[in-house]
Amino acid sequence: MTAPRTRPTSAAGPARTGRALALDIGGTKFSAALVDDDGRPGEPVVVPTPTENVWAACEELLLTVVADADVEPDDVIAVGIAAAGPVDTVAGSVSPINIAEWYEGFGVVDAVRALFPSAAVDLALDGACAALAEHRFGAARGYDDVLGMVVSTGIGGGVILGGRPVGGRSGNAGHVGHIVVPGSVDPCTCGGIGCVETVASGPNAVRWARENGWEGETGQDLAEAARAGEPLAVAALQRAGVALGQAISSAAALLDLDVAVVGGGFSAAGDALWNPLRETVALHARLGFLADFTVVPAELGGIGTLTGAAILARGA
Ligand SMILES: [Zn+2]
Repeated sequence: MTAPRTRPTSAAGPARTGRALALDIGGTKFSAALVDDDGRPGEPVVVPTPTENVWAACEELLLTVVADADVEPDDVIAVGIAAAGPVDTVAGSVSPINIAEWYEGFGVVDAVRALFPSAAVDLALDGACAALAEHRFGAARGYDDVLGMVVSTGIGGGVILGGRPVGGRSGNAGHVGHIVVPGSVDPCTCGGIGCVETVASGPNAVRWARENGWEGETGQDLAEAARAGEPLAVAALQRAGVALGQAISSAAALLDLDVAVVGGGFSAAGDALWNPLRETVALHARLGFLADFTVVPAELGGIGTLTGAAILARGA
């Protein structure tokens, strides 16, 4: 993830002061807010992800936020952008899988700079922003080596090592949903086969349950059915929890982590998901340096990504 590729000095630089904006470009909604003095986003303006004229809608959203606060565009000194992946933080572009118009890549950093000429603009992967937010304000406070994981329609994530966000070559480090797990040979949206996302994202857990005869529709239905003890729903969440535990254990061993923070809508599925997840981590994360490794639920819920964008804007 991270800013550093587009503004190499920002990650290590001093905190910025002045008016800053946070923008979250998601597959289902766009949200934007001014950043408070404490580095958190204010009340966001939210719109459904547009299917056409995507930039025009995004521009209108940003200008609405500043107009509502009587801020002149020239007075905005920083904008932090969280975007659904993949991103290219070197080119400053995004190509979210769920936004067809931008599929070939859209230069969002330059477009935002054109709107706010005085602003430093930083872009990072949404999962990375969620990790950053949990590290600064949420369940990973006080830890330096963190995996953030967002389990929802897909599975995203981000990595903090030594207290710093890790971007990788193009800003896409933390795509934890595409760790391959045993037991799945299903095709993944990424073009690969057997990624943890093919088992443990909400829609894929639902798909597996329905293929086996369950008749509900959504991840929320599945969680409720599991709470009511329906065997197929329990089995689907067991399977998802095991796959998440396997992926998390692999990441923990690779990166020597303190903690994995798991959020996203489907992570709220309850004990039927979390018990097998924790049991699987206990089974696999056995190296001595992982003795204290823990997995905890995210604390920031749906605002984590926008909060991470706000942290970026303030100079993460
Ligand atoms: Zn994949």
